[in-house]
Amino acid sequence: MVKYLLILFCVVSFCASAQQVQVTTNIQQAMDRIDTNAIRSHIAYLADDKLKGRLPGTEGYQMAVDYVTGQLKQIGVMPGGDKGNFTQKLVIRKSVLNNPSSVAYLKNASGKIDTLSFGKDFTPTPHPLKEQTAASGGLVFAGYGVDIPGGYSDYAGVDVKGKIVVLVAGAPDGLRSTLTAHFSNAGNKMNTAFEKGAVGAIIIENTARQSTNPNPVIQHNVALNPAKTAAYGRRFTGTLQVVLSGNKNLLLKLFAATGKEAEAVLANIKSGKPSSFMLPFSLTTSYATTHTDFESYNVVGLIPGSDPKLKNEYVVHSAHLDHVGIGRPVNGDSIYNGAHDNASGIASLLEIARVYKSSNAAPKRSVLIVMVTGEEMGLIGSSYFAANPTVPKASIVADVNTDMPTVIAPLLSVVPLGAEHSTIMNHVKFAAGHLGLD
Ligand SMILES: [Zn+2]
Repeated sequence: MVKYLLILFCVVSFCASAQQVQVTTNIQQAMDRIDTNAIRSHIAYLADDKLKGRLPGTEGYQMAVDYVTGQLKQIGVMPGGDKGNFTQKLVIRKSVLNNPSSVAYLKNASGKIDTLSFGKDFTPTPHPLKEQTAASGGLVFAGYGVDIPGGYSDYAGVDVKGKIVVLVAGAPDGLRSTLTAHFSNAGNKMNTAFEKGAVGAIIIENTARQSTNPNPVIQHNVALNPAKTAAYGRRFTGTLQVVLSGNKNLLLKLFAATGKEAEAVLANIKSGKPSSFMLPFSLTTSYATTHTDFESYNVVGLIPGSDPKLKNEYVVHSAHLDHVGIGRPVNGDSIYNGAHDNASGIASLLEIARVYKSSNAAPKRSVLIVMVTGEEMGLIGSSYFAANPTVPKASIVADVNTDMPTVIAPLLSVVPLGAEHSTIMNHVKFAAGHLGLD
C-alpha cells in the first residue's frame, strides 16, 4: 500500500526529472507521512454492512458522501463542488424500455414491408430524454461509424442526413489502443452519427447472444443536469432520435438485397478501407421509455496550488465512491461491501489529500479530489463531471484515477493507462524507477 501511494504521490508531485532516482527531501517526508492505519480505517467504515454496498440513491451511499465530506473538512481541504459545497449535484436517470411498444419495419425498394421481430431482429436502447420516440429514414451502411479527421472515415462519400446508419461494433485495425478504445465506444459512434446528420442508428453487435427471456428488462442509465435538459454517459445520451441494436442476421438480411458479400465488406473495413454505401431499405421504428430519476452527488475537494501561475491549473485525483448495493446472496450474505472496489481507492484519495495538506511543500498546481457516483451504473458520475467540471475544463491538466488499488497483492509492475499521451509518463517512469518496478 505504501508503495502504491508513493507512485501516485510522485506522479503528481512533479519530481525533478525522469533520470534522477532520488526523490527530494520534501517528497520523502511526505511519503513517510502516509499512514496505512488511516487507509485501513477508511476502508473499514466505507465497506461496513451498515452502508449496504453504497448504491447511489440509497441511505448507504449518502452515509459514504457524509463520511468523505467530513474527512475532507477535517483534513482542511476546501470545498470544490457546486456553490461552495463539497458536493456536485446531479440526477441519475434509469431508463427502461416498454417492450410491447417497440416496433420496427423495413420497406424495400419496391415497397414491400418486412416487420422486424423485437428481441430477435432488433432491440431498442431506451431513450434517455424522451418517453416516446420515433424515426423513419433510408438506411446507410456506415461501417464502424468512425470519422478520424485526416484519416480513416466511414462517412467519406456518403450522405447520412436524415438517414438511419447501420454500424458494426469495433474499429479498423492498426489504430493505437487508446484510439481503438475511443472509436469502439458505442456512445462516440452515436455522437459522430448525430454530427453527420443521421436521425438514428442500428448497431450490429457481433457477439450479442440472443436472450432466452421473452420479456427482458432493457435498461440504460445516464446522468442528467439538475434541469434535466441534457444527458451524460458513455453510451446513448439522447442526441439521435432512435438507437437500435441488431445481430449479424439482420446485417445479412440487409446485405442480401445489395449483391455485396458481407464478409468481404467487413474484411475491407477491418483492414482500413472504408466501404460505406446506401442500403435499398428504409426503416420505421418507434418505442416508449419509462424514466425513474433520483438525485446523487459527486464529492469534490480543492487543495489550492502554491505557485502563483500554476495554481490556475488543476490535477485531478479521482475514484468512484459507489458500489453495487445489495444483490444475490453469496453464502447467505447479500451485501456487496465493495471493500476493494472501490473503498480502497477512496481511502487512498483521502490519505493522499491529507499528505498533500500536511506536506511542507504544497503542490504547485491546484489539486481536485473528485469522488464520483454511478461508476458501476456505467461511469455516469465521471461522465457528468468530465462534461461539467467545477473548474474551467481547459485548466484541468491531468486526472489520476484510482480504482481497486493493489492492497491485497504485492505491487510488481505499473501499467499507467493513457499516460503515454502526456508528459505524465515521465513521472510514472521516474516513480516506478525509484521503487524498482517495471
Ligand atoms: Zn471500480
